[in-house]
Amino acid sequence: MRHPQRITVLGATGSIGLSTLDVIARHPERYHAFALTGFSRVEELAQLCLRHRPRFAVVADAQAARRLRDLLGGGLPALEVLSGEEGLCAVAAHPDVDAVMAAIVGAAGLRPTLAAVEAGKKVLLANKEALVMSGALFMDAVRRHGAQLLPIDSEHNAIFQCLPLDYPRGLQQVGVRRILLTASGGPFRETALDALEQVTPEQACAHPNWSMGRKISVDSASMMNKGLELIEACWLFAARPAQVEVVVHPQSVIHSLVDYLDGSVLAQLGNPDMRTPIAHALAWPERIESGVSALDLLAIGRLDFQAPDERRFPCLRLARQAAEAGGSAAATLNAANEVAVAAFLGGRIGFLEMSVLIAAVLDAQPVVPVVSLEQVMQLDADSRALAMRWLERYGR
Ligand code: NAD
Ligand code: MG
Repeated sequence: MRHPQRITVLGATGSIGLSTLDVIARHPERYHAFALTGFSRVEELAQLCLRHRPRFAVVADAQAARRLRDLLGGGLPALEVLSGEEGLCAVAAHPDVDAVMAAIVGAAGLRPTLAAVEAGKKVLLANKEALVMSGALFMDAVRRHGAQLLPIDSEHNAIFQCLPLDYPRGLQQVGVRRILLTASGGPFRETALDALEQVTPEQACAHPNWSMGRKISVDSASMMNKGLELIEACWLFAARPAQVEVVVHPQSVIHSLVDYLDGSVLAQLGNPDMRTPIAHALAWPERIESGVSALDLLAIGRLDFQAPDERRFPCLRLARQAAEAGGSAAATLNAANEVAVAAFLGGRIGFLEMSVLIAAVLDAQPVVPVVSLEQVMQLDADSRALAMRWLERYGR
């Protein structure tokens, strides 16, 4: 591949986006930020544009585009500012782009990420919701368009590193017994069960090991994040849900493991810093400096493991049920969860009510095969509407 490689960062102003730009800036001879996108934080995007000098910037709408131009003053006259989903898809599929970091949060990332896949790009996938929603459609598009899909989620990146290169032949064929997905257990792993009802968004977003966006932080606190990751792992590695086991590992040092038929268990370890999987995927199959400090096992001292408690974390059970149901169940789960998380962050429902809302939407929506993107978007919209109706009835 030519150097420097041109990278589109979808969701550049977010936690993953900023970590990606940090790694890119360490290797100007290898990587250049070709396009940066941001949604609401236009000031931050302007700063990032001045620093990384991309060819394109994409914002939410025409008004935000004018604001970005104003903020830049006369600076960066060659920068092209685009807007909306159309702009996102254009920079994801642009012929001059070598790789796309898909780091928009939630369903909003589906179309742009698919646009990168359909253009046959190297796609670094952080936006797990896109894959969870569209599942077979997404993976079919990867195969049909010869895209290269590299997982950024630390667990899936770890699994990818522990699997042989020919794993797409099938897990059984390459001698894998099961995948062990590690989970920190989040901030409420040991909170008294009767205190969970009262926990605040600020407490939910204070993750013990990782610093992340608010949506994924709440998902980590409810363990819906692990549920979405279970579904993500099934698609990425052609695993059955029963082949993926969740293990709570509070230190977040082992990022996941692969258990082989001969009794070997391979794990990937490292400090909990997303720059490691980002650097791994950017440079794969080479290795580059990421800025992450060396792991100090002696300072860590011990690694602990526990079974997940589904009474405490009903979202994990709901996600496993959706994974087993297949078809549209995961899209329904994801949409209901996005509404539930926003309602919790907005103070409309309590922490424990998130799983009640999601279960109600899953119960109300039939499970059907997923056949087209339009259908997935419709399912997403219908499930959100059901969730909103639930909120009107039971929310504050
Ligand atoms: P974040 O909230 O920090 O950033 C989200 C980004 O998406 C921002 O750039 C925002 O401008 C953009 N965005 C939000 N809504 C949008 C919309 N409607 N249209 C276009 N752009 C929009 O989130 P994050 O923590 O960086 O997570 C991003 C994705 O990566 C999520 O899917 C998350 O699950 C996944 N992920 C994150 C981490 C992490 O450590 N943060 C780890 C693993 C996976
Ligand atoms: Mg993860």
